[in-house]
Amino acid sequence: KKRVFSGIQPSGGLTLGNYLGAIKRFVQMQDEDYETIYCMVDLHAITVWQDPAALRRQTRELAAGFIASGIDPAKSILFNQSQVAEHAQLGWIFNCVARMGWMQRMTQWKDKAGKNSQNASLGLFAYPSLMAADILTYHATHVPVGEDQKQHLELTRDIAIKFNNDYGVDFFPVTEPVIEGAGTRVMSLRDGSKKMSKSDPSDASRINMTDDADTLAKKIRKAKTDPDALPSEAEGLEGRAEARNLVNIYAGLADMSVEAVLRDVGGKAFSEFKPLLAELAVAKLAPISSEMARLMENEAEIDALLHTGADAARAIAAPILEKTYDIIGMVR
Ligand code: ATP
Ligand code: MG
Repeated sequence: KKRVFSGIQPSGGLTLGNYLGAIKRFVQMQDEDYETIYCMVDLHAITVWQDPAALRRQTRELAAGFIASGIDPAKSILFNQSQVAEHAQLGWIFNCVARMGWMQRMTQWKDKAGKNSQNASLGLFAYPSLMAADILTYHATHVPVGEDQKQHLELTRDIAIKFNNDYGVDFFPVTEPVIEGAGTRVMSLRDGSKKMSKSDPSDASRINMTDDADTLAKKIRKAKTDPDALPSEAEGLEGRAEARNLVNIYAGLADMSVEAVLRDVGGKAFSEFKPLLAELAVAKLAPISSEMARLMENEAEIDALLHTGADAARAIAAPILEKTYDIIGMVR
């Protein structure tokens, strides 16, 4: 059976970008021909500062978000990364396989470290190496992610290939990215050239899964656009990043193609389109956020679920790590 792994950082609250770019696909893959493993990557989250109490709350809230969105712990393995030590252990080995130059080229590193990169954590620099370990410690073959993670997946392939070459083995699989659909690149509501992120300091830049109807409507009303009406064909979105983004979001939420959306709304002004988008977003997100709130009332139940998930994950990861140590020449 093909094996899927993907993770989300508990570095803030879930955004519509996470939902359309990742979780929606996670849910579908449970019912396809895959074994699915989904992780709250808390070790990744601390590559930038996280307040301990907030990290705890965000991890549980993320678990609630997964379940409320349709991840079924009976069908998928759901857990948080720090409970399965194999991730960090294999991550160290990959730190010794990957090259500094590979990391330096990563756009996420450049974006997140910013100008003052000497002050960024070493963990932030090595982020893709730990991500490769997340995936490869399960020998996962398919990784559903948003477009922004494509470069890290290519690096995961490079690490697998170099490890196999260095040790003359055919051990780690070469991973396939799964990046598809209108939602795989949701942009900031304030700047069409920047991706929507849960860690963006501006709350107005994103739609949170937990935003209430009024907040949603207000954020969409205030979203940056241009003065022209919507085009009736996709070519008309060329060079109109903000317009394209709102149409993409509509398409992702409605499960329609961009072309089909434009057939319906082409010619409308944004003042007409935005309320339609807000209505659709509320209809899709309100059931998820109310279910999240309900689940958050029972933290012990969430913790127990994560514990069970971690045991199941470790059962797969431990033998793969053992074999890795053996290949490398560690005496066990
Ligand atoms: P952070 O700002 O802390 O990096 P994030 O919102 O980028 O948070 P991640 O946990 O880094 O979220 O990524 C989780 C998943 O969501 C990944 O598969 C990523 O590709 C996807 N994703 C994140 N942002 C977007 C976006 N704007 N559009 C589509 N997919 C996204
Ligand atoms: Mg991110």
